Amino acid sequence: MALEKVDKVWMDGELVDWDRATVHVLTHALHYGTGVFEGIRCYDTKRGPAVFRLRDHLGRLFRSAQIYMMEIPYSIDELVVASKALIRANGLRECYVRPLAYLGFGHMGLNPLLAPVNVSIAVWKWGAYLGEDCLENGSRVQISSWKRHDPNIIPANAKATGQYVNSGLAKIEAVKGGYDEAIMLNPHGYVTDGSGENVFIVKDGVLFTPPTHAGILEGFTRDTVITIARDRGYEVRETDLVRSDLYTADEAFFTGTAAEVTPIREIDDRRLGSNGRGPITKELQQTFFAVVRGEIPEYERWLDLVE
Ligand code: PMP
Repeated sequence: MALEKVDKVWMDGELVDWDRATVHVLTHALHYGTGVFEGIRCYDTKRGPAVFRLRDHLGRLFRSAQIYMMEIPYSIDELVVASKALIRANGLRECYVRPLAYLGFGHMGLNPLLAPVNVSIAVWKWGAYLGEDCLENGSRVQISSWKRHDPNIIPANAKATGQYVNSGLAKIEAVKGGYDEAIMLNPHGYVTDGSGENVFIVKDGVLFTPPTHAGILEGFTRDTVITIARDRGYEVRETDLVRSDLYTADEAFFTGTAAEVTPIREIDDRRLGSNGRGPITKELQQTFFAVVRGEIPEYERWLDLVE
């Protein structure tokens, strides 16, 4: 996926040209993974571009920073204004939004408390994360031999840049093996997340997804889908799952800001009952896309209009 250049990037309060949005090689975060970030999407709606659950995502950014004792020198309100100004400055109707708070230049050595905190926001056009084909026909997934970190090794519920080296190892193994995506188990063998998505399965009309204590990132797309599903009368259970629960599911799918709602058609070469995009997955996926595009008034509270 080649990155398509836009005009401006927001860096520490200023809109700077895309080509000038650079950092020093001695930026602390480059060496030690000391950053926290978010992934958010802006969708085109009939009332103009709208950012989906912007304040929820920024709230999580601040909670991640709290865990790592990073003092973000802006408020949520300021970052809301900055995100919208940046989308407008780039003239985008649909885009991905990436706020990042990171330890910057001026101190080397491990102690994170001594380094300055910088904040940037970048936006770019990003289509279907796992490809259009996976959105429609489902992805092929491998259970990774790499385990998700235990919460007392790296807190799973913070979105820190450094922890994604773990997801990266799982992703490498999956793509080298010819799969689209990886699912990781925790050290006790229970299902957690994809490399950057939450996981759901459907059995006998009931939805199951791993609970927070399994070591997942509590995704907003996950929360959105749970809400939509319950509103439509489905039972949703947050419960520990083992790999064989996945193999015997009728349907399965990923949720995530980047991946949106992406069906899973095969896990470790076992075709799921639905053999493609299952009917409940399809219904929830279609509802999700209607929600983010502002087509269902009931869920308009999740949209933050850019203009
Ligand atoms: N799990 C992991 C490990 C992730 O990186 C992401 C992406 N932020 C998610 C789940 C999904 O979270 P959300 O729906 O808030 O994007």
